[in-house]
Amino acid sequence: MNIRAIIQKIKSSFNHHGKELPNEAMLGFLRVLESVREEDAPCDEVYARIDEYVEMEIDKKDAAQLMPLVREHLDMCSECCEEYEALLDILEKTSKQEK
Ligand SMILES: [Zn+2]
Repeated sequence: MNIRAIIQKIKSSFNHHGKELPNEAMLGFLRVLESVREEDAPCDEVYARIDEYVEMEIDKKDAAQLMPLVREHLDMCSECCEEYEALLDILEKTSKQEK
């Protein structure tokens, strides 16, 4: 399970049992999760390597194995994941046209 899913789960359980956990504690906990996520692999770093990652996938290399941090980040960061999917889409179409 990735961190985004965990946060989502916490948020939904918080909504259902709002009174069991104080708001402040919840916010603090979420902040810790968010900061862990950012330290893991900052978006800037991933952005800089997305094209490299996508090219590996196009080349049928095991990109997730070669760049696990990028894979991990893509799983939990929707912004970078969108960027990745858009790029993958473009490159797939381009490479098909070439062949
Ligand atoms: Zn990101």
